[in-house]
Amino acid sequence: MENALDKYECVVGLEVHAQLQTSSKAYSSDPNEYDAAPNHNVSAITLGHPGTLPRFNSRTMEYALRLGIACKSDIREWNEFARKNYFYPDLPKGYQITQDTTPICTGGHIAIKPKGGAEKNIRLQRIHMEEDSGKSIHDQDPFNSLVDLNRAGVPLLEIVTEPDLRSADDAYAYLTEVRKLVRYLDVCDGNMEEGSMRCDANVSVRLKGSETFGRRVEVKNMNSMRNVRDAIEYEMKRQVELIENGETVVQETRGFDASRGITLSQRTKEAANDYRYFPEPDLQPIRIKQEMIEEVRKNLPPLPSELFDRYTKEMGLSEYDAGILTDSKPIALYFEALTQHTKNFKAAANWLMGEVKGYLNDRAMGIEDFPVAPQAIAEIIELIDTGKVSNAIAAQKIFPALTEAPDQSPKAIAESNNWIQESDDGTLKEYVQAALDKYPEKVAEYKGGKKSLVGMFMGEVMKMSRGKADPKKANQMVREMLENA
Ligand code: ADP
Ligand code: MG
Repeated sequence: MENALDKYECVVGLEVHAQLQTSSKAYSSDPNEYDAAPNHNVSAITLGHPGTLPRFNSRTMEYALRLGIACKSDIREWNEFARKNYFYPDLPKGYQITQDTTPICTGGHIAIKPKGGAEKNIRLQRIHMEEDSGKSIHDQDPFNSLVDLNRAGVPLLEIVTEPDLRSADDAYAYLTEVRKLVRYLDVCDGNMEEGSMRCDANVSVRLKGSETFGRRVEVKNMNSMRNVRDAIEYEMKRQVELIENGETVVQETRGFDASRGITLSQRTKEAANDYRYFPEPDLQPIRIKQEMIEEVRKNLPPLPSELFDRYTKEMGLSEYDAGILTDSKPIALYFEALTQHTKNFKAAANWLMGEVKGYLNDRAMGIEDFPVAPQAIAEIIELIDTGKVSNAIAAQKIFPALTEAPDQSPKAIAESNNWIQESDDGTLKEYVQAALDKYPEKVAEYKGGKKSLVGMFMGEVMKMSRGKADPKKANQMVREMLENA
């Protein structure tokens, strides 16, 4: 079986639903809140009562534009809405307002960096606007299913890829990038565990080298990146096994049972829904003017991929460092602010990923709550670079003191604690001279060729200065004065 698996590759296309962080719903003014009391944000419009009319929340369009522009998609000028009809207890209107034949964005791509692989572009088929359904809850009451309609009508973007992904790791990497992107763009909080980002995976397998696609299975509604990865791995094995046993893969919809790590059939193609799409009669089409697109483009926040390129190409940071710095937007924004105040980018990256992150991790704190301003960290770097304090003093003494008193300047802290090292030439020279005078026989040995004695003299100088001599300068001066002794 393992051998058979090696002969195949899997082909995956993902459909991601991202809940938008708007303050009201997609077609009504009902609040869009995650943790409101059940059925609290449900007006007659959300329920689709006779006589009510939907009204389009233009924020949904703005968010779709942000994402579409960031992915270099084509933006459609003339956008129509469609009704997708089906019966379900958590769908009070009996239909969803969505976009069928005129998605707001088509094409474009998202670059991924899969584990151990080269960067590649995953092409997008479409991004369209729609509304969420309510939530059916089956595990809170032993006898009944409960329905919470707060989520009904919450705006979603559905992001659909071409079948460009080739492994479970690809899918994982893609979801990582999508989540990063929607967070940078402030359109969705990306929390899969809370259901604000959900994923359907279309999976098929084919012999390596084959040009045609196999028959696909759709695994619905997964709410963690790990589940998506595990479901794809499971599907790949299951489908290869079927084919190797001379059976065929049935085109169907399956669900993932995370506790057992398996997918289970939900409905086959024959029983598939017919949604009877038709144009939504209660909403006028919207026209997106070029100026609107330009307006959104102008106000687009920095994108993780752009920052990554700048950090590696212009700042000379490693891909590893750039990856960590751009992983989360708040960290990247702090680094952006930090590098406004220092040009020592490597030191800035090291301080942020080392001392600062260590401090935050110890306290389970986000950088949003970090008390020290980027300017102050830049000032520490400056103190080190000008030889006023050593790295060790900066990390072990000044930084902790600064977190306790973030309003003080690092320089003032170092001065008042007597941590400024002596790099002033006159004073240093006196220490070195005193050390040489103390051990004339060692000076003679040095002159005789025992160069390793520099270390001993350095020790003496550091002792005399009580650790405050600038080691780099002192070392240089010890060598010079020994040579000239
Ligand atoms: P539907 O309208 O039934 O959802 P689509 O053609 O729109 O089907 O495709 C939905 C998703 O399935 C897309 O992400 C697409 O890339 C993916 N897909 C299509 N064919 C295959 C295949 N043979 N194997 C894997 N994924 C596929
Ligand atoms: Mg689909």
